[in-house]
Amino acid sequence: MNAEIISVGTELILGQIADTNAVCIARRLAECGFNVLYKTAVGDDIDALGAALRIATERAELIIVTGGLGPTEDDITRQAVAAVLGVELSLNEDAFRHMQELFLLRHLEIPPTNKIQAMIPSGGTIIPNKIGTASGFAVTFRRAEIICLPGVPVEMKQMLEEWVIPHILKKSGLVQTKAIRYVHTFGMSESMVDEKIKGLMGRENNPRAGTMVGEGVVSICLCADAESRAKALELLDEAEREVRRLLGEVVFGIDGEGLEHAVAYLLKRGDKTIATAESCTGGLVSDLLTNVPGVSDCFVEGIVAYSNKVKVEILGVPEGLIYTVGAVSPEVACAMAGGVRRRANVDIGLGITGIAGPTGATPDKPAGLVYIAFETDSDVICKERRFLGERVNVKRQAALEALNMVRLYLLSMGNASS
Ligand code: ATP
Repeated sequence: MNAEIISVGTELILGQIADTNAVCIARRLAECGFNVLYKTAVGDDIDALGAALRIATERAELIIVTGGLGPTEDDITRQAVAAVLGVELSLNEDAFRHMQELFLLRHLEIPPTNKIQAMIPSGGTIIPNKIGTASGFAVTFRRAEIICLPGVPVEMKQMLEEWVIPHILKKSGLVQTKAIRYVHTFGMSESMVDEKIKGLMGRENNPRAGTMVGEGVVSICLCADAESRAKALELLDEAEREVRRLLGEVVFGIDGEGLEHAVAYLLKRGDKTIATAESCTGGLVSDLLTNVPGVSDCFVEGIVAYSNKVKVEILGVPEGLIYTVGAVSPEVACAMAGGVRRRANVDIGLGITGIAGPTGATPDKPAGLVYIAFETDSDVICKERRFLGERVNVKRQAALEALNMVRLYLLSMGNASS
């Protein structure tokens, strides 16, 4: 069965945001056995969206539209669909009640403009939005079903999984036969990963593997196709085991797992605690760690020690040390790690200092130079790294590198004690 995805929003076609919704929908439709023929992005223009919808209904049986269901003038999806169908918009009482409840929860009155979000083309079926105020809807036009979802990714995903996927599987009689899994690695180049797993990458392989890279993380995408989803998942399990065997400890997680999840898991498993003292990363490591639910068991304190004053007064870094070797030095990174470790009374203290750039560089200390240190009761380890890219990239790469250092250390401790 042919499917098509239409993403709505001028910010998408101006390149201001990436169309991650289309990626997510395409992946799920492919897993369900749909043939995704086209992905289109359209600006907030009622005529352009109408034209895109008409074209799509001529070549696909399922069209999923995302975005443009907000309350403002430029949100035109419901009006464009109603115009294509030649029907009016009508108020859906259930959707309106849900919106009233959401506003009541926030102790707010419904602005008159928001009422439009409970309106759908007459004859359509409402798709509940548990998280936000924009309900989705499904309508039929000629031989095609058009399903409209909000643009906010978390709302779109929840509605896709809870309503759309069960609905389209039931309606089409298709069974999910495909499954996709991402295995993430850190610390090995993409070409080296390719080389090591090349046996899994041939066209004839099932699952078939491909690689992608971003911010030092190389991910292997495994795509399995079998007679049932359960069988496809089994094939993925086997392939994941093989990837782990071939790549070893550079593998840190799958799908939505980041390095922070791996670190939190290993800290809990080893019954260890950590505290961080960050200068150039500005609290990014703490931010990542606190994305992991339940991390308060092992993450005790995070200090953004940006100024020398804070390094000295809060972390106890000797002032003379900063004066003699500079704030960006292995000695200061180690002193920060030790200082925060003693202060928070934890097993691992992490210290990061560097030059995120583009200012602050000197001939012997270029932008992108970062020292990452950690102290435990038995070790003090410091690594020098030189990152390329803009300020935000340097910060992010340094934070990921620091998490990876801690991960590898915890792994080695686990291996030593087992
Ligand atoms: P809302 O009720 O929040 O206005 P909506 O359906 O009108 O929902 P949009 O206004 O189009 O959605 O988008 C809301 C936000 O969701 C955008 O600012 C953007 O950050 C994000 N978003 C929209 N479309 C996409 C997309 N295709 N991929 C990723 N993010 C998106």
